[in-house]
Amino acid sequence: MIQFLVQGSSINPYRVSFILNEGNLSAFCTCPAGKHGQLCKHRMSIFRGESDNIVSNNKGDISVIRDWLSGSDIEMAIHEIAEAEHDFDNAKKRLAQAKRNLAKVMSL
Ligand SMILES: [Zn+2]
Repeated sequence: MIQFLVQGSSINPYRVSFILNEGNLSAFCTCPAGKHGQLCKHRMSIFRGESDNIVSNNKGDISVIRDWLSGSDIEMAIHEIAEAEHDFDNAKKRLAQAKRNLAKVMSL
């Protein structure tokens, strides 16, 4: 298990834990979202390799977490979010273009 202390919005830093057990990676956080089993930015930032908000003295362990992430089901799930965000961005651009086009054809 590797733990980091991450400074969030509360006075006390949150404890973010990563556990690799028989090839299965788990990640926990003591922030309100994490406690309720929801996605939180504290775990995501460490998975992205960001150390800015880590206040414990083991920032170097991020590279170990990145190794653990590689090939895991968490990495696949993160990738799926990135793809969905890409699709979402494209849909927003298409919608904006369609609205511009509607305004244009209305005024011809
Ligand atoms: Zn959190």
